[in-house]
Amino acid sequence: MDDFVKSIPEGVKLVAVSKTHSCEAVQRAYNNGLRIFGESKPQELVKKYNELPKDAEWHFIGHLQTNKIKYIVPFVSLIHSVDSPGLLAEINKEAAKQNRIIKCLLQVHIAREETKFGFAADALKEYLSTKEFLRHTSVHIVGLMGIATFTENTVEIRDEFHTLRKIFDELRETVFAGDSNFCELSMGMSNDYKIAISEGSTIIRIGSLIFGERNCSK
Ligand SMILES: *Cc1c(COP(=O)(O)O)cnc(C)c1O
Repeated sequence: MDDFVKSIPEGVKLVAVSKTHSCEAVQRAYNNGLRIFGESKPQELVKKYNELPKDAEWHFIGHLQTNKIKYIVPFVSLIHSVDSPGLLAEINKEAAKQNRIIKCLLQVHIAREETKFGFAADALKEYLSTKEFLRHTSVHIVGLMGIATFTENTVEIRDEFHTLRKIFDELRETVFAGDSNFCELSMGMSNDYKIAISEGSTIIRIGSLIFGERNCSK
C-alpha cells in the first residue's frame, strides 16, 4: 500500500473507500497514515465515524436517500454523489437545520451503463444555468464526480473521464467563474485511477487496492 500511496501525484487526494470493511481494517489504514475514508451507506458511515479517531475525515460516495441525510450531516466532510436538484435542496435544508455548511460534488452520468446514478451532462448544465443552487446557502458545490464504465476498454474509460473533465472546465469558466471553491474533480477507482489522474482528476476513490476485494459488492 505504501508504494501505491507514494505513487499518487501531489495535488491528488486519496479517499480510501472502506465500505463493507471492518472498523479494525479502517483503523489499520488509519495507522498507516490514511485520513480520508469513503462510505456508501449512511449507517455504516456513522458507525465507523463513532469508532475511529476524530481526525479522520469522512466522505459519502453512494446513492443517498433523503431520509438518511440527517444522520451524516453532523460530521460528513464531502458528499460526492449529489445526483439531482431535489437531493441538493434536501441536503441544504438539513444542513441549515443542523447549522452546518456541507461541501458537495455533483455526480455526472458518464458511463455507458444505465444503472449508474447522476445528472446527464445537458441536464446538469441546464440546472446550473438557472443559478437556483445559489439559493442553497448551506451547501457548497465544490466540483464534479463521475464513475466510468466498468470495462477493460481503456480507450472508452479515457473518453468518459475526458468528457467529464471538459464539462468541469466549461463550468469553471462559466457558471463558477470566480468561485475558487469549485476545484474538485472526483474520478478514478482501483481499476482506472491512473487514467483518471492523467485526465485531470483531483480526488481518487480507492477501495479494493487498499483493503482487498469486498465480499459483497455494495
Ligand atoms: C466502491 C466504490 C469505489 C471504490 O471501488 P474500488 O474498485 O474498490 O476501488 C469508488 N467509488 C464509488 C462511488 C464506489 O461505490
